Amino acid sequence: MTIHIIEAARILTGCGPTLAPGTVVLADERIAWVGQSEGLPARWAGASAERIGLPEATLLPGLIDAHVHLSFGGDPRPPVALLATTRMAVAATIHAALRQLRDAGITTVRDLGAPRYIDASTLGDLDAGPRVLTATIPLTVAGGHCAGLGGVVTEPADIDRLVAANAARGADWIKVMVTGGFTTGGRSSPYEPQFTDAQLARIVAAARVHGLPVAAHAHGTAGIRQAVGAGVDSLEHCTWMSADGFDLDHEVVREIADRRILVCPTINHQAREATGRLPWAVRREQLRVMLDAGVRLIPGTDSGIPQTPHYQYAHSLPIWTDLGYSASDIIKLATSSAAQALRIDHLTGTLTAGRSADLIAVPGDPTSDLGALTAPVLVATAGHLHYPANTTEENTRP
Ligand SMILES: [Zn+2]
Repeated sequence: MTIHIIEAARILTGCGPTLAPGTVVLADERIAWVGQSEGLPARWAGASAERIGLPEATLLPGLIDAHVHLSFGGDPRPPVALLATTRMAVAATIHAALRQLRDAGITTVRDLGAPRYIDASTLGDLDAGPRVLTATIPLTVAGGHCAGLGGVVTEPADIDRLVAANAARGADWIKVMVTGGFTTGGRSSPYEPQFTDAQLARIVAAARVHGLPVAAHAHGTAGIRQAVGAGVDSLEHCTWMSADGFDLDHEVVREIADRRILVCPTINHQAREATGRLPWAVRREQLRVMLDAGVRLIPGTDSGIPQTPHYQYAHSLPIWTDLGYSASDIIKLATSSAAQALRIDHLTGTLTAGRSADLIAVPGDPTSDLGALTAPVLVATAGHLHYPANTTEENTRP
């Protein structure tokens, strides 16, 4: 067994008071013990272990980005570009994405759309990268949003077949493009539903057969309403758009809250500067209305799309202060709450004995400066320790 004993100035466990100073013991891929340093049990104190001292750092659970695209690589027309590339090239893009995410302290991602036959789960062990919850191939219509990824369905039998194939491929979620999007052009309108009510109901029913939750890409209000009616589990983007403006439906907002549907508004590091079709002032107001109604929001960046690199998740988090969250609230939102929302809190999201050893160390105290989250000095993914390239081992060890 490989034992690491890490002592830090403070530990935010995500499920109790701050431990200062605190110690965490990692045994192989799991957390074996966490507590105040002075209480380290003799069993561990005397163990032959690698000891790491971080006297000026804070340890906390690894970050969770609930909406990424590992295979997109920042290309402006990802589905088109992916069709023209090779399987090896896509695999290389995914590996690079996972390395960037890991070195930025993101230890779990939900990958919401991958091309035909290629996704993280089919590529085997990715050098101890982040945990990947994958939606594999998203369902869409002919000529619709991300149709180039290979998930075009029309008849009930097509729907059942693709959902079953995704489940067999290791899907953790089923992704459905309820409306069109902005990156794909053609027949895809972000303001309009792509499927009929009956098709969408069939998709949700097919996912349930395999015990899988459904994530719905939905911009326009008509699509959001349709997705909520069909009983999806998460709404991605949820921008309440219409062809000529916005149309936030308070009745539907109430239903989203009542049904405990997650909303992942895909806020990236540039969201505050957005001035075009979706200015931040409008977005902020929509999000406040949803929060006031009790809707559960979950952070995610849509990284992999243009201008949204995988390593800037932590840069997006301070923007949540505009919605009234404190720094401590935001850390919870990006760790323990995200794990609960994604149904993996039995695995990760808190520093608790028995959970996966997914943690980061950041300089200083992120509860007083969220900027600290952008520069992790140590990242553990299931017990594998990484020292991101902008730091050296010397300055993280005693
Ligand atoms: Zn996306």
